[in-house]
Amino acid sequence: MRYGMVIDLRRCIGCYGCHIACKAENCTPPAMLWSRVHYYEWGTYPATRRLALPVLCMHCGEPPCEKACPTGATYRRPDGIVVVDSGKCLGCGSCVIACPYRARSLNSKPRGYFPGQGLTPYEEFGYKRHPAGVVEKCDFCLSRVEKGLEPACVVGCLPKARHFGDLDDPHSQVAQLITRRRGFQISPELGTDPSVYYLPP
Ligand code: SF4
Ligand code: SF4
Repeated sequence: MRYGMVIDLRRCIGCYGCHIACKAENCTPPAMLWSRVHYYEWGTYPATRRLALPVLCMHCGEPPCEKACPTGATYRRPDGIVVVDSGKCLGCGSCVIACPYRARSLNSKPRGYFPGQGLTPYEEFGYKRHPAGVVEKCDFCLSRVEKGLEPACVVGCLPKARHFGDLDDPHSQVAQLITRRRGFQISPELGTDPSVYYLPP
């Protein structure tokens, strides 16, 4: 079993649905984005192209963040999901530097989405889940996955560009899509072996 995700760049319309679904599910503080969408443009008018590239923690098979963590707070589970044990995290930031995909961030002290207006009940609830001085990142919505549900970004993707499943099962939808559509990893030359694959646009 190795959980992984496939993102179809042909279907992705760059709507930020995944980004918002992640925020709503995980109550992440301002400026903390576990699921992001980048845009790339190239060419010269009128022959131009624009590509939306959704990114998240790649749940690497060989995670540099795990190697960089001095306390064992970051570790890769047997099912392939890379997690952070907040009780063991020192907030030293070594893993933030080690991650080549910029997937990690260090929690700062609570601040609201609306400066000068204090924290809303939603933000107060969120900060209980995101204590200051701890590094965090996407965990493939582990609490949902353990209940047999898909990550929020997969459910929140209206054009159904995102798929989640077992990369090790050749009959799974994710494995079949990777084979049929020549799925690729971002920066495979780094040797990190991401569990997030992309289907070409
Ligand atoms: Fe670690 Fe970064 Fe790989 Fe995620 S993407 S497993 S944070 S190295
Ligand atoms: Fe792309 Fe789906 Fe994210 Fe929208 S929700 S940006 S279509 S991956």
